Amino acid sequence: MKHLSYSVKNINELEEILSSSEIKAQANFSSILIQVFSADTDEKWIEKVTTSISKQLPQAVIVGATTVGEVIFGKTYTSSTVIGFSFFDTTTLHVISKEFDNTKEFDTGKVIASEISTIDEHIAGVLLLSTPLSIDVASFLEGIKTSESSYPIFGGGAGDYASMNNSLVFSKQWIKSKGAVVVVFLGKELQIDYRTYLGWKPLSQEMTITKADGMLVKTIDNRPAFEVYDKYLGLPNDENFFLNVLEFPILLQRDGKELARVPVFVDEEGGIQFVADINEGEKIRIGYGDPELIINDSAQIHQLVQTFQPEAIFLYTCGCRRFLMQELVELETAPFQEVAPTFGFYTYGEFFGTPSNLQLLNSTMLIVSFREGEGKASNNTLSKIVKEIPEDTSDPYLNKHGRIISRLVHFVEAVTSELAEKNGELNQLYVTDQLTGLYNRHKLDEVLIYEFDRVQRYKASLGVIILDIDHFKQVNDTHGHQVGDDVLSNISNILQNNARKSDTVGRWGGEEFLIICPESDLKGLIQYAEKLRKLIEGFSFDKVGHKTSSFGLAMYQEGDTIETIISKADKALYKAKNNGRNRVESV
Ligand code: GH3
Ligand code: MG
Ligand code: MG
Repeated sequence: MKHLSYSVKNINELEEILSSSEIKAQANFSSILIQVFSADTDEKWIEKVTTSISKQLPQAVIVGATTVGEVIFGKTYTSSTVIGFSFFDTTTLHVISKEFDNTKEFDTGKVIASEISTIDEHIAGVLLLSTPLSIDVASFLEGIKTSESSYPIFGGGAGDYASMNNSLVFSKQWIKSKGAVVVVFLGKELQIDYRTYLGWKPLSQEMTITKADGMLVKTIDNRPAFEVYDKYLGLPNDENFFLNVLEFPILLQRDGKELARVPVFVDEEGGIQFVADINEGEKIRIGYGDPELIINDSAQIHQLVQTFQPEAIFLYTCGCRRFLMQELVELETAPFQEVAPTFGFYTYGEFFGTPSNLQLLNSTMLIVSFREGEGKASNNTLSKIVKEIPEDTSDPYLNKHGRIISRLVHFVEAVTSELAEKNGELNQLYVTDQLTGLYNRHKLDEVLIYEFDRVQRYKASLGVIILDIDHFKQVNDTHGHQVGDDVLSNISNILQNNARKSDTVGRWGGEEFLIICPESDLKGLIQYAEKLRKLIEGFSFDKVGHKTSSFGLAMYQEGDTIETIISKADKALYKAKNNGRNRVESV
């Protein structure tokens, strides 16, 4: 195959290219794919471009999308129209264009997948372009996922330079604002290597999506989602929200992979609309791109792509990378041009995977390398791969943007992890009894609430044991408070060392302890308390000698509240004391 790329400003320029000897010389290729990526969302312009190409190259397949930046020769163009001509030796192409009018996105995805599956030829890969702004693209991909095939799918969502209302996809004589265009590459010769990388780092503390509906996140940690962005970033909710928030996607882990989700706008209730799905219950953090990490990651991908020996490299890269990297953005695209002609656009979402594990990505760069037949040893050497943000010694003020961001990201990371550590310590203090190291009353109350909820929901069982040291006052009176403290500590150790995994042991107050035992019956509870009673009775305390303790037990019964079950255990304890102490009693 052979790939040629051009950028055009007007139809005259395009006509010149189409009639140039460079294009004419490719007449003997079996099929031609022409990708058009246009910053201009005017349908008339797109129509002119595609009509003009069709006239000169009627056999060519034409597809395209509007953008938020264009990639050509490894460089980033803005406000331009770029046209990529891919000439194939043996590969043939099959195009499917579908409009989402009143059809459900899922159903359209399913139809496309099944249409592809009827093709009776080897499928080397599928290019997919769609309009995430105007359709539920997550559902659409779910529809495609009904197929069990394993060809690679790659592509991106049409952009519109942040006006957020006018993205288009198109093919020959077909332009839609709610649509999907698919190019199926057919034939055994075509080899496709496709990779993606993110380079974004989580910055904030972890939060939970508490209410979500499709691509609308209503609440995070039970607060309107927008409050989180307002709190961390101080972002106003105005017409520039999308632009301001682009570099700060939500990051989440799904199936062991880090995914980013870019917010689009805020609704009246403070919910945030995304261009990709987020599920209730998912743990998220606000992320930020680290230019240094991005450039390091991309250098590794450059190496892998180089070994593949591609004849063309298509880049579908998230618009937010442009916003983040600014003038440095080419550090991650330019080195690919040293390997093969590089062409693509900045997207509103990337599509990546096989039909069965197709993923909707945000914020990533998708690198698709094409080669027909065996790779030829490349003449290009990559000795010049840029791995670092360059230090321009002649002008120390140049290219500082990326470096400053990297330092700031590092700073925020350090502060966040310091805070997380301190929070962990504080939380530990908050739930721990300082003398004994056992859980304190506060934590016991929390566990009781949790266990009560569980026992009532699942008709499970729950028992509690209250333990009180017998004649403990005497210890203090005879040996002093410090020795009393030591006895409390020793008894705590006995309880902790003999607790079952599912039990919670804590200090209920003074010389009383509470053990919460889910999943046990009265018989088991009595046996357990007896065991503890004997262990305490048998222990020889320094200076004090032997001490005994009394136990009150209660099992949860229907209608019980936390107060009633504790009061039952208290009554049982009272009974144990009255019946001579050093006993286990239940009610
Ligand atoms: P009984 O067998 O009826 O339980 O008699 P008792 O002496 O154990 O009961 P009482 O409630 O009269 O006394 C409990 C004592 O526990 C009184 C209090 O000073 C002591 N105590 C409570 N908390 C601590 C503590 O943290 N350290 C020490 N050393 N003593 C404590
Ligand atoms: Mg007591
Ligand atoms: Mg006591």
